Amino acid sequence: MTNGCIFCKIVTGDIPAERVYENEKVYAFLDIRPINRGHALVIHKHHHADIFDTPEEDLKDLMAAAKHLAPVLVKTTKADGLNIGMNNRGAAGQVVMHAHLHVIPRFVNDGLRHWPGRQYTPEELKLDADAIRKALK
Ligand code: 5GP
Ligand code: ZN
Repeated sequence: MTNGCIFCKIVTGDIPAERVYENEKVYAFLDIRPINRGHALVIHKHHHADIFDTPEEDLKDLMAAAKHLAPVLVKTTKADGLNIGMNNRGAAGQVVMHAHLHVIPRFVNDGLRHWPGRQYTPEELKLDADAIRKALK
């Protein structure tokens, strides 16, 4: 529990939420401002701000819960597909600084648009791949 964190307060019950799933590690509840109906948030009971400070084990717990929820959300909402997303830091759209996965039912013709892609130049493509490979060594 981290003071002032609204998602920690949801886990403890200090802030109400529509819980849909819980185990000893994770907690999942419906997003109060859903992209589509059934939009769930999966959080770890350990407070971590984002992917950078979340241990791998805890990330596995989050993804395992998303895997558990995914077919159930699709079935109950009669969705045609599902997005799983994670915003990390403000520049990426993160507003609540308690790491979370968005699990979002999607429907054919739901009006949402995917991020626009742009063309890589061959030089940029090679430069970026080389830099990432080097940093991973
Ligand atoms: P972020 O932009 O940080 O990835 O997403 C935070 C999400 O949390 C938003 O989609 C927002 O609607 C949701 N949210 C924020 N406050 C609350 C709350 O008090 N209760 C619930 N259920 N969802 C919240
Ligand atoms: Zn928290």
